[in-house]
Amino acid sequence: MLASLRVEHYGDVTRLRMVSAVGRAIGIDVSAYVVRGVMVDTGFAHARDVLLRAVQTLDVRTAVVTHWHEDHAGNVATLAALGVPVLLRADTEATLRSFPPIELYRRVVWGSPTSLTAAVRRPELDELVCIHTPGHSTDHQIVWDASTRTAFTGDLWLGVRARTVHATENPYTIVESLRVLRALDPDRMFDAHRGLVARAINAIDRKIDWLSTTLAEVEARIQAGDDDAAIVRRILGGEDLAAVLSGGHYSRRNFVRAVRRCR
Ligand SMILES: [Zn+2]
Repeated sequence: MLASLRVEHYGDVTRLRMVSAVGRAIGIDVSAYVVRGVMVDTGFAHARDVLLRAVQTLDVRTAVVTHWHEDHAGNVATLAALGVPVLLRADTEATLRSFPPIELYRRVVWGSPTSLTAAVRRPELDELVCIHTPGHSTDHQIVWDASTRTAFTGDLWLGVRARTVHATENPYTIVESLRVLRALDPDRMFDAHRGLVARAINAIDRKIDWLSTTLAEVEARIQAGDDDAAIVRRILGGEDLAAVLSGGHYSRRNFVRAVRRCR
């Protein structure tokens, strides 16, 4: 089997936790969430069959997509072709219409997404609001359920000390987007990779603190003339396995480069 899906219940929210065979081996999975018939994110191409079964079983009427990445928007083309209304930003849709080439290891872990060709029917969402929160990607948005003060945060949070990043990420913009999330004062937060995050406000505050402090420390080392490798060692604890597995596409060196590029 290419992928499996586990269903977990959190009151009004159902978590669809999907993992591919390769993903299980390296310890990475992703979740979509269903709340009152609306599914936030669509999983990855390898999970298409198990996801479609869940869509039927759970009577999903509508999907919302947090950003274009293949582990979140990997089944938008299939859902749209089946006539499922999908709410997504215009820039996300433009990206999905000609899915950009993604690195080999990403295709191995998640599968190769197909480009979106069907017309997208955009639904009206009564209670859920999408809020643009760029940084992880320029098109990233979170989904906010004001009736239960619940945030579906996609890849905005990802853990307090997430410092292995893609070359396209902007950590300064991530801090700004985290402040937007903080201002909502959420009671609950569902992260696409970490699941339900306990004590949401505390977790967001700790991330804003850690990220702001670390950015300042990296800036100081750049000012002092240190090279990237030295800064990764001194401030970021050295590279981890992800840098090796991804051929450097996800790395802590990218964090330092982002500071040089964006500060
Ligand atoms: Zn992502």
